[in-house]
Amino acid sequence: MIFNVAQLLKAAVGTTRTYAVDESLPQLDEGIQLTELVRGTVQFIRTNRGILVNARLKTAAKEECSRCLDVYVEPLNIRFSEEYIPIVDVVTGQPTHIPHESYAFLINERHELDLTPAVREYGVLEIPMKPLCQTDCAGLCPHCGVNLNQKRCQCVVQAKDERFAILESLLIDQESTDKESY
Ligand SMILES: [Zn+2]
Ligand SMILES: [Zn+2]
Repeated sequence: MIFNVAQLLKAAVGTTRTYAVDESLPQLDEGIQLTELVRGTVQFIRTNRGILVNARLKTAAKEECSRCLDVYVEPLNIRFSEEYIPIVDVVTGQPTHIPHESYAFLINERHELDLTPAVREYGVLEIPMKPLCQTDCAGLCPHCGVNLNQKRCQCVVQAKDERFAILESLLIDQESTDKESY
């Protein structure tokens, strides 16, 4: 996702360009596979120091549900605004005097602005901490391991029976203590 911004860097502050993005990025990060292209629009605005990028992108990642362990596709909305700073002045060819270390994203000496690092950084933030295939995912049965989204198992019924059995025994205990106290 590399854009040559030499012309925009020569333009007046406030000059705006909008581009469509339709790019393949097989991996968002290590272990995060994207199942769709990165699509959307980016707006570049010439600022007095560099270029402000407003990105509105969409893609989707392959995820494993944290409850049922099924693989599913999680849609991702990647939005960010970042100012990119040129390391070289487009007119003089000399290094710029902007403190680079205070900016996360730079425009290289060939006047190229690469969106990929920001897309990765902001994209990873969109990955849920506890991915769920659906908000009400029923998960796996803790006894037999069956995916409860797909079928019911007998364990649930048994577990309920056990709880009732405990409850009943408690009630009986209670009754007998009650009787004793009279
Ligand atoms: Zn699930
Ligand atoms: Zn079960």
